[in-house]
Amino acid sequence: MTNRDRIHCEEVIAHLLAYLDGEIDAEKRRQIDHHLEECRACFSRAEFEKALRQKVKQLGHEKSPHSLQKRLKGLIDRF
Ligand SMILES: [Zn+2]
Repeated sequence: MTNRDRIHCEEVIAHLLAYLDGEIDAEKRRQIDHHLEECRACFSRAEFEKALRQKVKQLGHEKSPHSLQKRLKGLIDRF
């Protein structure tokens, strides 16, 4: 474990969406994986984003985009 491998929460959050999309280089992914193992806050954040994405996918099948937005907003407010 070198200092080079240590990244901060800000950096994890900044790359979180790319990380979840798999649009991130292997080195950064490894750093984030490691950070998530050690950092409860970022782990929760990543889990929340994952759940949110699944929800968006599910809600995406609904007809009304307005209700989708409302329910999404409700989710975000609860976080
Ligand atoms: Zn963190």
